[in-house]
Amino acid sequence: MSQYDFEVVIVGAGIVGAACADEFARRSMRVALVDRDGVGTGATSAAMGHIVVMDDSEAQFVLTRYSQQLWQRLKPELPDDVEYEQRGTIWVAADDEEMMEVRRKHAYYSKRSVPTEVLDAQSLRRLEPNLREGLAGGLRVPEDAVVYPPCAARFLTERAQRHGAELRLGCSVVQMGVGRVRLSDGSEIGAEILVNAAGVWSSELTPGVEIKKRKGHLVITDPHPGFMRHQLVELGYLKSAHSVNSDSVAFNVQPRRSGEILIGSSRQYGAEHKEVDDAMLERMLQRAREYMPALDGMQGVRSWAGFRAATADRLPLIGPWPGDKSVFLATGHEGLGITTSLATARILVDQITGARPEIPVEPYWPSRAGQLTGEKK
Ligand SMILES: Cc1cc2nc3c(=O)[nH]c(=O)nc-3n(C[C@H](O)[C@H](O)[C@H](O)COP(=O)(O)OP(=O)(O)OC[C@H]3O[C@@H](n4cnc5c(N)ncnc54)[C@H](O)[C@@H]3O)c2cc1C
Repeated sequence: MSQYDFEVVIVGAGIVGAACADEFARRSMRVALVDRDGVGTGATSAAMGHIVVMDDSEAQFVLTRYSQQLWQRLKPELPDDVEYEQRGTIWVAADDEEMMEVRRKHAYYSKRSVPTEVLDAQSLRRLEPNLREGLAGGLRVPEDAVVYPPCAARFLTERAQRHGAELRLGCSVVQMGVGRVRLSDGSEIGAEILVNAAGVWSSELTPGVEIKKRKGHLVITDPHPGFMRHQLVELGYLKSAHSVNSDSVAFNVQPRRSGEILIGSSRQYGAEHKEVDDAMLERMLQRAREYMPALDGMQGVRSWAGFRAATADRLPLIGPWPGDKSVFLATGHEGLGITTSLATARILVDQITGARPEIPVEPYWPSRAGQLTGEKK
């Protein structure tokens, strides 16, 4: 009889922890998924659900593309409420300089077999007539998709449970390490492998993990079916996402299946409160109206804010934690955790079970050069 209650305990039932639980359970490992709240109630509940290939770095590209393909493979099993739709993204270029970026992205993606289409000004208007006039064109990435993240997390959790995973909600973890997770009521759960998937709270449980909170706002409108077809993102979004010091906003708008329009996005460091910041919200909406003037006539029915878990090099932390051989990280996914959840789970479990990962795993290791120093527990 093993000294452990489970082979694996995962702390955090956001989309990343849920995907990990699903992957471990489907490989017949005894796994417990623990959260102090409900399933998908952290950053996962605040997200847009854009499943998007990104190319800030080769490592980011490989992880996002691999994960997008895993979502595509999962599609036949996804229930209706996950609202998986392959809408495609259009990266909107405002001027000739941004058209150069369109062509660079097109060449980069084409070389790596990601289908894309360069749009001139006329084709852009034909596809999305509610964009303002005078834009230079864009890049359509047809395999990008959208999901409804809380239901996706629930689906993955329930599938994990069907494969034997145990879900423990309302359990606040106060400490994890050396093969044990300690809960706030004083009880402990033992496991050979502990996975820290606690998002922006990861560093509280594994001191030395460097995660910063990056606040983001979203607004959803009343339904306007047919108003737009693709997820539309300004190419300036990349500048916004890269800026590490200042607050930024970018035009990033998504049509939901219901016809509602989800409007983003903002990025702020140093904002610790979850409340909506009206000034930031207004800046974000103003930016959206600059690209799509007709949004002005729409009713915003709900707005909210959430926190992205940001690392210094903009890559997630996936793999063994150098400070404790029982601890593994699956955190730091910033604005791409919905996209990369499935790949995170796949490569983490591959590493733990000795299976051969389909992509290189080293770029995401918590021990990567100059990143972090594991603290001995
Ligand atoms: C505004 C906004 C828009 C976004 N849009 C997108 C998008 O379009 N596409 C995309 O790919 N990503 C997007 N993201 C990013 C995405 O939401 C996150 O990367 C992802 O949800 C992270 O999931 P997670 O499971 O790591 O963390 P979370 O969902 O935050 O889950 C962590 C869980 O850990 C639990 N927990 C923490 N501490 C403890 C403890 N001590 N004991 C027990 N439980 C604990 C929490 O309760 C929580 O449920 C967006 C984020 C924001 C804020």
